[in-house]
Amino acid sequence: MAAGQRVFALSCVVQQYAWGKTGSNSEVARLLASSDPSVQISEDKPYAELWMGTHPRGDAKILDSGMMPKTLGQWIAENQDSLGSKVRATFHGQLPFLFKVLSVETALSIQAHPNKELAERLHLQAPQHYPDANHKPEMAIALTPFQGLCGFRPVEEIVAFLQKVPELQLLIGDAETTQLQQSVDRGPQAVASALRGCFSQLMTSEKKAVVEQLKLLVMRISQQVSAGNHMKDIHGELLLELHQQYPGDIGCFAIYFLNLLTLQPGEAMFLEANVPHAYLKGDCVECMACSDNTVRAGLTPKFIDVPTLCQMLSYRPSPSRDRLFAPTRSQEDPYLSIYDPPVPDFTVMKMEVPGSVSEYKVLPLDSASILLMVQGTVMAITPSAPAAIALQRGGVLFIGANESVSLQLTAPKDLLMFRACCLL
Ligand SMILES: [Zn+2]
Repeated sequence: MAAGQRVFALSCVVQQYAWGKTGSNSEVARLLASSDPSVQISEDKPYAELWMGTHPRGDAKILDSGMMPKTLGQWIAENQDSLGSKVRATFHGQLPFLFKVLSVETALSIQAHPNKELAERLHLQAPQHYPDANHKPEMAIALTPFQGLCGFRPVEEIVAFLQKVPELQLLIGDAETTQLQQSVDRGPQAVASALRGCFSQLMTSEKKAVVEQLKLLVMRISQQVSAGNHMKDIHGELLLELHQQYPGDIGCFAIYFLNLLTLQPGEAMFLEANVPHAYLKGDCVECMACSDNTVRAGLTPKFIDVPTLCQMLSYRPSPSRDRLFAPTRSQEDPYLSIYDPPVPDFTVMKMEVPGSVSEYKVLPLDSASILLMVQGTVMAITPSAPAAIALQRGGVLFIGANESVSLQLTAPKDLLMFRACCLL
C-alpha cells in the first residue's frame, strides 16, 4: 500500500460460532472463498459471521500493507482525518459501527439491547456480563430469505395463541390471561402492563413445568405432523425445529409472543433499544453500533438475565409488517437505496448497478465507510492509490472520508454492494 493511500482492500475476520451455517452452505464461507481462492472451506465447520470493522476481537487486516502488516484499527488510530471531521469528534476517534455478514443455521438467543442509560447502569453493576457502556442498535438486511422474531405481536394474536396452545396458557395462568384479554379495549398502557405480566410470568416459569409443557406440546404437534397436519396455525414445524435445537428451553414459547418475519433479499429490520428479537435462519448483512451489550433470555447456553430483560422491554405490540424497515431511494444516484435508522451510529447503503454500465462512481461521504461486494467484478480507481484495486464477490474495501472511487466493471455482470457509513 502506498503512503497516503486512503482507499484499500481489507481481509476480514470470520467467526466460527456453532450456530453458523456449515461449509459452503454458508454465505460467509462462499464470500470468503470467492474473494480469496487460496482459502480452503472446511465443509464440516460453521462459518457464522464475517466482521468488517475494527472491533478488538476481529480487527480487519489491511491487504497489501507491505513490510509492516497493519490492522484497520491501528491504521485509523494513526490516520484520524480518514474518519471524517464530524465522526472523529462525535465518536472520539473510533469507527462507530461494526459491519457484518451473518449465516444463521440454528436460532440465536432471544435478546434485547439496552439504551445508553441502561447500558451505563448494567456495565457499572455487572461488567462481566455487560462489557461496555454503549447502546447497541442493530439492523439486518436479508441476503437470502431471512427468518427472525422481532417485537411483540398484536395482542389479539397472542390471545388467540393462548387459546390454541393450552400448554402455553397453563404456564401463564388464568389471571394474567384474563388481564391480557381485557386490556385490548383499555388503551396502550393497559396493554403494556398486561403484556408485561404475561411475558414475565412465562419467562419466570419453573424449569420443570416448562420442560413438561414443551414435551406435551411437541408430542401433540409431532402426532399431527405425522398424520399430515402441519399445524401451521400454531407454527408447528418451527416449534419442533426450535425444540430440537434447544430442548426444554423457555425460548421455544417466545414464537407465540413475538412477530415472526421472513425478510426477502433487500428487506430489512431495525432493532432499536429494548425491542425483543431473535434471528432464526438465513443470511444477512448486519450493521450495529460498537458494543457487546446483549440481554438474553432463552434459546442460548450463554448467561441469561430474565429480570433485566422483562423489565427493560418495550411492550408495544405491532403487526409484523410494521417491523420492516424500508430504505429510501437516493435523489442523486438511481442505483442507490439508503437504510438510515434513527440512531447516529450507522447507515447502510445498497447499490444495485446493472452490468450494462461501464463505470460506477461511489459517492464521496464525510465519513469513513466500508464497502462489501456481494456480486460483480470491478477495478476500483481512486486518486490516492497508485494502481487500480481489483475487487470481486466477497471483496471488502475501506474508503476514507471524502475519497472518490470509480468502479470500472470488468465483466458484464450486475453489481450488488452494501456500504456501511455514518451520516451525521
Ligand atoms: Zn441483537
